[in-house]
Amino acid sequence: MLETPHVVVGAAIATKVVNPFLAIPLAFGSHFLLDRIPHWNPHLNTEMKKHGKPTKKSSTIVIVDVCSSLVLGLFIASKALPNSAHAATIVFSSFAAILPDAIEGPYFFLGIKNAFIEKWITFQKSIQADADFIPGIITQILTIAAAFWWIFA
Ligand SMILES: [Zn+2]
Repeated sequence: MLETPHVVVGAAIATKVVNPFLAIPLAFGSHFLLDRIPHWNPHLNTEMKKHGKPTKKSSTIVIVDVCSSLVLGLFIASKALPNSAHAATIVFSSFAAILPDAIEGPYFFLGIKNAFIEKWITFQKSIQADADFIPGIITQILTIAAAFWWIFA
């Protein structure tokens, strides 16, 4: 999935599960569950193989996605203030939710290759449920909406 739904779900978990020792691992685990929902992602792997780097369009999508995930993650965390410990748990959980993808960042965007990253990418690819663009975006919008509903309802 894109990073925004991952972060919103991770932040939602930490909003409800206040204990950081539960929230952070749960948020991390949610990453793999969400990737089982059919979704669309920019085709970074294919582009790496074809051109040696992601296309401009994909890089732009990634930047917009990361910025929106930062804004939403920090927004949800700010709702826990003045309880700064809870807000911090939400921030760390948001990060834990995207950690599986963040590990891949240096490969796609800095050209760093090593056996661990390549094995990790193969593993993550093997659990992705891919969908076409329109349905694959709709599922992610619905995921974000469901997480917001869970947080604020
Ligand atoms: Zn993933």
